[in-house]
Amino acid sequence: MGKQKKRLKEKDRLKPKKKEKKDPSALKEREVPQRPSCLFFQYNTQLGPPYHILVDTNFINFSIKAKLDLVQSMMDCLYAKCIPCITDCVMAEIEKLGQKYRVALRIAKDPRFERLPCTHKGTYADDCLVQRRVTQHKCYIVATVDRDLKRRIRKIPGVPIMYISNHRYNIEQMPDDYGAPRF
Ligand SMILES: [Zn+2]
Repeated sequence: MGKQKKRLKEKDRLKPKKKEKKDPSALKEREVPQRPSCLFFQYNTQLGPPYHILVDTNFINFSIKAKLDLVQSMMDCLYAKCIPCITDCVMAEIEKLGQKYRVALRIAKDPRFERLPCTHKGTYADDCLVQRRVTQHKCYIVATVDRDLKRRIRKIPGVPIMYISNHRYNIEQMPDDYGAPRF
């Protein structure tokens, strides 16, 4: 049984205690994102394949350093078609990094990448990925090497995280039913 299942059980056990303490109106506001209906089934049916993978700036930069081709390495990890997705704000972040990161920019503009338009102000990509993307749409995997972002994503049910370890991509929080590779 995976870590995730164990964690869910622990959470379920804790719930009733919390409910008794707080007054009902306060509870409603605090209720962390409701499990969307697509997660009612054993696994998240919206996930894919093809897998849509939201990449952040550092994931691209670290992939370049590790000499990993993004699309190929994603497929090597998941054994299925993968579509890297890049939001306007991540693209803006990379553009702001300047000349030194022109390789990252070229990769981000690869036609195999799907561009996701943003409507929010500013270029703070972490909030966009967490609040506007994966919380609202359960069809993404998030690819990041950022510890804080990983921590935030882990709190959202049904969102796997792709990261880099030992010069390859790996995945966590992938529902068992997808037969995610384990290393
Ligand atoms: Zn955005």
